[in-house]
Amino acid sequence: MFAKYQSCFSCKARYKPSARIFRCIKCNGSLLLVYDSLPQKNAVRSLAFAHTRPHHWKYWMFYPVRRERAITMEEGGTPLLQSKAYANVLFKYEGANATGSFKDRGSTVEITHAKELGAHSVVCASTGNMGASVAAYASRARINVEVWLPTRTSGVKINQIKAYGAEVKRYGRTYNETLEKTFELAREGAYLAGDYAYRLEGQKSVAFEIADQLHWHVPDHIVVPVGMGTLAFATYKAFAELRALGVTRHVPKLVVVQAAGCAPLVKAFESGADVIEQVKRPKTVASAIDRDMPNYGHEVLHALKKTGGRAVAVTDAQILKAQKALGKEGIYAEPGAAASYAGALKMKLDGSVVCVITGSGLKDPFAGLPRRGS
Ligand SMILES: [Zn+2]
Repeated sequence: MFAKYQSCFSCKARYKPSARIFRCIKCNGSLLLVYDSLPQKNAVRSLAFAHTRPHHWKYWMFYPVRRERAITMEEGGTPLLQSKAYANVLFKYEGANATGSFKDRGSTVEITHAKELGAHSVVCASTGNMGASVAAYASRARINVEVWLPTRTSGVKINQIKAYGAEVKRYGRTYNETLEKTFELAREGAYLAGDYAYRLEGQKSVAFEIADQLHWHVPDHIVVPVGMGTLAFATYKAFAELRALGVTRHVPKLVVVQAAGCAPLVKAFESGADVIEQVKRPKTVASAIDRDMPNYGHEVLHALKKTGGRAVAVTDAQILKAQKALGKEGIYAEPGAAASYAGALKMKLDGSVVCVITGSGLKDPFAGLPRRGS
């Protein structure tokens, strides 16, 4: 375990790597893990590393927990598939993870951390995918878990969360209202799972695997759907860490995609402002990314600046069209996951492009279908 400290993104205050805090105590900024690069470099140069197939825990040296204590379901190792329609496009299909979405990469690190801290209960706010993932991993760790959902979450996702033995509660109209509720419970002693430093560290493995699967050549563009922004910023952080160690030579341009009915980050990016305005009434078929305020918004704007990237909004019609196009590639994606491809199609990107398809279509099979009787 090579983590040195947690650093606040905004005021740069430092905390112990295992400190049980979720935001900066001084300014409420997000916390980022910083590592000792020398042992990391030695570990990635080892023969054992070279001879291991790409999967999440191969990259243990980039996580702030001990791999021998990992609560794992062999997450990651997902396919990187060549598009049949476009020679320059690849799909990283995250629906192949144990609970059907990319969230498992964050959950394995986060729940391992909860176990290391001796947590007896875990609480998490979710619109479905994170809740299912946290529920599965907490159950494997024999930790009680409560998942709080906004009142409008889809029935299929609730059934999955319950199947893992979690207690499901409902509160709030938007995700951020639900989130506030979990803060209260965390103050009473529960481990707060969600879009915080440890989850972000786990989400980095999408990028590690892509680089590894491309034999350490990075693509020109990496396209990621954005709700809270955790995956987008984790992707940037991972590519930046690889380049800093000399494992890769470049950091790809980050392209982030939001649904037009909920695009606070795109609006901020286009206006050039540092202020991200909360969306009053998120409205999109892509429930996995309809966050009224992205937790890692400023961090993602920073990553876009650093990589010369772009932010783009796509309509529900464009998302559903991309979902159909992915089906013709043999990939069943939920609308929020198809958003990345919708963005890539809209922008007609040159050079090599990897679209992260964040979750299986089985997650939300009725999205976009006409309602009965209409
Ligand atoms: Zn701070």
